[in-house]
Amino acid sequence: MDTVRDWIREAQHIAVLTGAGMSAESGVPTFRDAQTGLWARFNPQDLATESAFRAHPQRVWDWYQFRREAIAQVQPNAGHRALAAFAQRHPERLSLITQNVDGLHQRAGQPQTIALHGSILEDRWLDASRACCQIAAPADGHPPRCATCGNLRRPAVVWFGENLPQAELDAAEAAVGRCDLMLVIGTSGVVYPAAGLALAAHQRGARVVLINPEPTELDAVASRCLRERAAQCLPSLMED
Ligand code: NAD
Repeated sequence: MDTVRDWIREAQHIAVLTGAGMSAESGVPTFRDAQTGLWARFNPQDLATESAFRAHPQRVWDWYQFRREAIAQVQPNAGHRALAAFAQRHPERLSLITQNVDGLHQRAGQPQTIALHGSILEDRWLDASRACCQIAAPADGHPPRCATCGNLRRPAVVWFGENLPQAELDAAEAAVGRCDLMLVIGTSGVVYPAAGLALAAHQRGARVVLINPEPTELDAVASRCLRERAAQCLPSLMED
């Protein structure tokens, strides 16, 4: 821990990449843990795709409503707050990239978070929006739809198989391109292109530090693996 704390103090620019484990201590389940109760028989890969939504729009919409309701009841944890406080003290020295769609980094005070996978708190149209879609509020339903053409509302998240928003990907790559230290927190490192950002930092010669109680696919490129929980270790790590 002490070595990593020194690296954080010395670093010119720190890129942080977070995943679902970052929000675990807020009570937001990781994908591995999210399949409880009614949803236990579904695999996230079968719920978080466009083809799943087109085949079973009500099922997928209701799964997202279930997750939205859970997220509405939780708060940013001490780890989110420690990162936000550091960024407020050193706005030029830290870029935060997240795979999380829960908005907790933003609620902790980091509005400039690069949200690679969108936001579960917002919707958008499934198909390109037509003039009729803009005229009246969508008709209620699971999911709501355009009363004229039937276009469906969908969560504004990036599903498996979809491209990341280009502006966010560009911003993330730019942050990695100028970092000399990367903190990779609470991600299993299996979802690309997000995981590739850690590989790119390593290839550029930046130090890569993993914070995760479990081994991950990215351990091989890490300068240090801290087997710690994010909310427990970040407050002391990010102190000046
Ligand atoms: P993942 O579920 O594949 O992996 C989570 C990782 O977090 C695991 O390696 C686990 O060991 C680690 N972890 C668990 N508790 C932790 C803690 N307290 N501190 C630090 N690490 C901890 O998640 P992923 O790598 O983010 O990738 C899966 C995809 O799921 C992403 O695309 C993400 O968008 C999506 N997702 C997002 C949320 C969210 O927004 N909160 C929740 C679930 C899934």
